[in-house]
Amino acid sequence: MATMVELGIETYACAHCKMQMFLTAEFVRQMRETHEGFYCPMGHNNFFPGKSEKEKLAEQLDQSRRELERERNMISSLRDEVQREKYSKAAYHAHFTRLKKKIASD
Ligand SMILES: [Zn+2]
Repeated sequence: MATMVELGIETYACAHCKMQMFLTAEFVRQMRETHEGFYCPMGHNNFFPGKSEKEKLAEQLDQSRRELERERNMISSLRDEVQREKYSKAAYHAHFTRLKKKIASD
């Protein structure tokens, strides 16, 4: 009795001699992730130089973290500014109240 195994074969041409190579999807995934070299039957070294999905996602995550950090810093600086304005307003108000009392007492 035969057993069917789904290998998910993909074909790639050697970067040097263009010979077709039949590679399993899992092998291709590993080679894309590790950027390791593999050889065509003629012995030419091939590798996938492009960024893997994992690397692209890691970069997106890093970028998102940097953006989040920038936003947090901006919010923190705005919060400080609002606090300074509140203190300033309170100080003016106190000064104004003192002046008003002084004028009323004179
Ligand atoms: Zn080759």
